[in-house]
Amino acid sequence: MKQRSQQTIARAAVVAGVGFLTGADIRLRFLPAAAGHGVAFLRTDKLCAPPIPALVSYTIPRARRTAIARCGIVVEMVEHVLAALAGLRIDNCLVELDGPEPPGCDGSSQAFVESLLDAGIVDLGTSRDRLELRQKVVVQGEEADQTVCGSPADDGQLHIRYSLDYGADSPIQSQNYEVAVTPQNFIDQIAFARTFLLEHEAHALRSQGYGKRTTPRDLLIFGKEGVIDNALRCPDECARHKILDCIGDLALAGCDLSGAVDARRSGHQLNAEFVRRVKLAHAETVWPGVSLKAA
Ligand SMILES: [Zn+2]
Repeated sequence: MKQRSQQTIARAAVVAGVGFLTGADIRLRFLPAAAGHGVAFLRTDKLCAPPIPALVSYTIPRARRTAIARCGIVVEMVEHVLAALAGLRIDNCLVELDGPEPPGCDGSSQAFVESLLDAGIVDLGTSRDRLELRQKVVVQGEEADQTVCGSPADDGQLHIRYSLDYGADSPIQSQNYEVAVTPQNFIDQIAFARTFLLEHEAHALRSQGYGKRTTPRDLLIFGKEGVIDNALRCPDECARHKILDCIGDLALAGCDLSGAVDARRSGHQLNAEFVRRVKLAHAETVWPGVSLKAA
């Protein structure tokens, strides 16, 4: 990917629905923002809440999701919204929401992508910061085979490969997917892939008071015999969704990344750790955005 212009949306866009975690009715508004603003979330249901930048430094530890916080105000499960914005290369956007999490929709980024495309994307004439991986960066999770490995890419693009393996006994078959992250590939191959849970994970969330308005028809829940009350959109939908999550989490870098990212059984915490390590390892080599008009 060559240096490119920053983008925002032409006008506001709305997505409304039920939050997967809390079951709250949520109205989310995407608002245009100026060059250099970046992506930030604003809770309009909280008095005097500050905007929370979608950057890795604002993430807080959470199981199986990405959450950001500032001054005690939290936004849960930002990853599918971030993936939609990053996948379409919308760099500047204020995301307003009147509750603690975005609408879950169908568990994918599809509704956000449609809403953003409907609003239209505009060029801001200022170049986007870019971080090109120049050395290998590897992070490892609690288990030895949970890794994210980044290495330089010859073509200057961001490539993500995900390998998913829950073992031979799992109803989720082991699968891989690989994509060059461009807006068209994101729209065609990734945006529709839905989030998934194992049945016992869904029960555990319920017992913690989460997901009371979410049913197996709203996302993919795998029981012993396979998907419950639902059907896969493609055989490797789970691996594609993991790439969707990676795209959202890598956006926490706050700049374009180029390189080949090979993720194996990674989750949100490890993806965020990868972003931290990449930024540390390349602190001197981020290509700063400069005004293309002035150049
Ligand atoms: Zn996800």
